[in-house]
Amino acid sequence: MRQTALVPEFVDTVPDALQEGTLYISIRFRTASHLCACGCGTTVVTPIKPAKWRLTYDGKTVSLYPSIGSWQIRCRSHYWIRKNKIVWARPFDDQEIEEVLLKDAADLHRYYGAQIEPEPTAYTDKAIGKQRRRSKDR
Ligand SMILES: [Zn+2]
Repeated sequence: MRQTALVPEFVDTVPDALQEGTLYISIRFRTASHLCACGCGTTVVTPIKPAKWRLTYDGKTVSLYPSIGSWQIRCRSHYWIRKNKIVWARPFDDQEIEEVLLKDAADLHRYYGAQIEPEPTAYTDKAIGKQRRRSKDR
């Protein structure tokens, strides 16, 4: 059945059998899991981390950002989770899906690529080092 809302449930580990209409949030594993809101029964796991999904919990309801697009499964569901509500969005066509996938890859590269190859900070570090040494001399 097509869902219109999800109830958040904070869990340590996500159970093997998920219930429809529940969003299982594991802080330990930094994931949110739920059964696809279209009712197709597919488990959708959204990693909560930079360049992936952001979870907002206001003490009562949860929101996930950005939207959830299940391009890999047949239903191609596309929706937002905003304050426990499923907000259905228009399904993307093949070209749009490709654009999203490319953008995701670029986001990941921008974030993790930047971590692996940090921006040159040698000048800044030297300047800080000099300042510290100077203040010590005083
Ligand atoms: Zn589905």
